[in-house]
Amino acid sequence: MTRLERNANIAAVIIPFAGVIAAGVLLWHHLLGPLDIALFAAMYLTTAIGITVGFHRLLTHRAFETHRPLRYALAVLGSMAIEGSVIDWVADHRKHHTFADEEGDPHSPHVHSAPGLKGMLQGLWHAHAGWLFSEHGQASSRRYAADLLADPTMRRINRSFPALALASLLLPALLGFALSGGSATAALAAFIWAGLVRIFLVHHITWSINSVCHFFGRRRFDTRDRSTNVFWLALPSLGEAWHHNHHAFPRSAFHGLRWYELDPSGWIIRALAAIGLAWDVVRVDPARAAAREVARNDDLPAEAPAQDAGEAAERELLGVSA
Ligand SMILES: [Zn+2]
Ligand SMILES: [Zn+2]
Repeated sequence: MTRLERNANIAAVIIPFAGVIAAGVLLWHHLLGPLDIALFAAMYLTTAIGITVGFHRLLTHRAFETHRPLRYALAVLGSMAIEGSVIDWVADHRKHHTFADEEGDPHSPHVHSAPGLKGMLQGLWHAHAGWLFSEHGQASSRRYAADLLADPTMRRINRSFPALALASLLLPALLGFALSGGSATAALAAFIWAGLVRIFLVHHITWSINSVCHFFGRRRFDTRDRSTNVFWLALPSLGEAWHHNHHAFPRSAFHGLRWYELDPSGWIIRALAAIGLAWDVVRVDPARAAAREVARNDDLPAEAPAQDAGEAAERELLGVSA
């Protein structure tokens, strides 16, 4: 990782945090209006969907197919979450699935973690944000994201990441200015709430999937990693917190596999399919899921069991090898 990349990532962590502090000051002065809330919600949902439906389920795992304009629009929206450029993100995440919780996983809380409380906290910090300063963007895109590299438009979106990140911050300010009839205070408030605070929350919810969802929570499949399902993160993460289900069936478009496992990203893919904007949607055969379930949570081995044949097939479909 170059010094520039490292410094950029440090800035990407610290500046939204400073925005949260500024937001506290605004709250103190009652500077949170309906316009700020509406812009925050719109920016949170569109950029988080860019990550969950776009970067993750469509581009990394090919959980469904769609028209090229929608594919590129999702890649642009995901870039505006400021979690790195699209090809780097996909390469890092495919590497995570390839080595899940073993040597080579860019953000496992378990690899190299020392015993005891201190080791546990160090592991969780590495999985949450520490990896951004050492491992982020280091997976070989030629090896892990050759399909995206072969697409000139995707390469252009990848190169445009710095401009898209800037646009993601300036757009809320512009909208706040325009929709308030030209108020500079409204522009500043929108910049802080729908820009910085929104990025802070999208970041930490996404990173919680890497830290919390490989540490706390429940398991029910015999997977070779230590992923977990975390119900209280399901809604803010738009369904990504059913992360153990996802490691068991990486290509499934739906991470919530039971009716009560709320999965808004899955609902969006279902809606896109209903109006003809998504097809070849990958679904888990319920019989196959049931066959892989282990009777009780406690029966699951703490360490990685033998690799499942279905998982090997899914890795091959992903185009990555261990
Ligand atoms: Zn994982
Ligand atoms: Zn994944």
